[in-house]
Amino acid sequence: MENEVRNIVTHLREWLEAYQEMGFAPPPVPAGRSSMEADVSGTGAVHESEPEGTPSLEALRDHIGDCRRCRLHEGRNHLVFGEGAPNARLVFIGEGPGREEDLAGRPFVGEAGRLLTRIIENGMRLKRGDVYICNVVKCRPPGNRDPETDETATCLPFLERQIRLIKPEVICTLGRVAAGSLAGREFKITMERGKWRTWMGIAWMPTYHPAYLLRNPAAKRPVWADVQEIMRKLNEGGRKNV
Ligand code: SF4
Repeated sequence: MENEVRNIVTHLREWLEAYQEMGFAPPPVPAGRSSMEADVSGTGAVHESEPEGTPSLEALRDHIGDCRRCRLHEGRNHLVFGEGAPNARLVFIGEGPGREEDLAGRPFVGEAGRLLTRIIENGMRLKRGDVYICNVVKCRPPGNRDPETDETATCLPFLERQIRLIKPEVICTLGRVAAGSLAGREFKITMERGKWRTWMGIAWMPTYHPAYLLRNPAAKRPVWADVQEIMRKLNEGGRKNV
């Protein structure tokens, strides 16, 4: 128990340091609760206070710099910030870079990434450069393991800032881990995908990760349904450029 508390405090400290290093004010603490109580219950939830932060994606990337805020920096070749249209209406979020992404410094460029590109270009009739693609954690977890909770919590303010700067109309998370990171809890992707939710006040559709589709081609059908739903939502929005 003592170790658990010590771990929680360590993780909270790392998360708060990352948040403040980005120029954000500490999250508000509800009256009658200590900051620690407030943070323990947060588990990656969105902080509603609009931070005074970096004014552009470029400035945010500069600010992140040669980040060593969590242990994932130890094994990375490249930090994978994300890429795409800075004012995209649609943002795809994966869990973290894989081996090829780590080598290239770009998100979703391996086999799963090529499938995502086909989904965007053939399924949605968009260009890859019209959307924005990024991950919850910006550095590759060793051996492609899932990011640990503390790693996600430390890196999440960067994703939140990206979303605040891009202001998309729709977010699509890819896979269980990315969805769980946004939800702040275990996410049962087979049961919970395909239903609209909101994250940071933005319409959010969780679907399968393209890597899962490569292993389970039958899952392409539900992903196709999710893609159609996303397009319907974007078309409702009325803007021509995604
Ligand atoms: S995963 Fe995120 S917080 Fe961790 S070192 Fe990389 S950029 Fe920094």
